[in-house]
Amino acid sequence: MKTYSLLLLMSACLSAAFGQTDTTKPAPVKTDTSLHAPVKADTSMQISGKTDTSSMHAAKTDTVICTSIANNGKVWAAIYQQRAAEYKALCFQAYNLARLRVDEKWTHYHMKPYAIVTDIDETLFDNSPYNAKRALNNLDYDAATWKQWTVRGACDTVPGAPSFLKYAASKGIEIFYITNRAEDERAGTLQNLKLYGLPNADDTHLLLKKNTSSKEARRQDVLKSHIIILLCGDNLGDFDALYDGAPSEEERKATTQKLMTQFGSRYIVIPNPGYDDWEKALYNYPVTIGNAEKDSIIKAKVKVAD
Ligand SMILES: [Mg+2]
Repeated sequence: MKTYSLLLLMSACLSAAFGQTDTTKPAPVKTDTSLHAPVKADTSMQISGKTDTSSMHAAKTDTVICTSIANNGKVWAAIYQQRAAEYKALCFQAYNLARLRVDEKWTHYHMKPYAIVTDIDETLFDNSPYNAKRALNNLDYDAATWKQWTVRGACDTVPGAPSFLKYAASKGIEIFYITNRAEDERAGTLQNLKLYGLPNADDTHLLLKKNTSSKEARRQDVLKSHIIILLCGDNLGDFDALYDGAPSEEERKATTQKLMTQFGSRYIVIPNPGYDDWEKALYNYPVTIGNAEKDSIIKAKVKVAD
């Protein structure tokens, strides 16, 4: 009974927080105000204002039925992504470092054109409203509702990402978007890239998922014609094939230790506490798993003070 009361209280707190936002002002529009002035005018702030926010309203009390640790965690991750200036600062930190690396690596003379490979979701586009909606209703991600979200082509951007990509493009560096979005998400994705005036928003540079979620073959395709100077991502599979094949948490940590010098050098990582391979590895990659089982694993693994 105590647990149920606590969950009701948590839900009420979330509702109150969301409700307060709804009644005072519209959902804030993210701006891309990197410390470095972009070479090209960054229009993401203005264009971002055109984003359809009708689906991003604050949660209503009667829709909040989130009752699992796992889904409460996803709501917490979404609110961090949406509201914490610390999240914004971390993204700026990553993209300011990326800019320094571009300046450091760029030269006039090279045998092949330079390229930057970037992931899209939670690296460039912010899907936290979709994730929050699913979690608040105690639902997992699913492909059908995800595509209803991406087909709109109206995701907001991750802070610092648009101005960084435009800066790189101003130096003649081509941007390749390697994403595990599917072919039927192509039109919405291109529309979203164009909404923010992002470089190389075309079929040639948008490499969607075909047969495998591994991005290695697509990276190798880019390497046939370009020199990849930098990779940006929120999931470690965005960087290296060593993270492919569902490695355990211990194996992922060991690989990260092995690749330590690459992070901040050739690999630029954006924080994503909400989902992706770290979460799948936590649960040991089940095909399907219920909330009760997720919560049981979380309770068994989390370190708790005596
Ligand atoms: Mg991603």
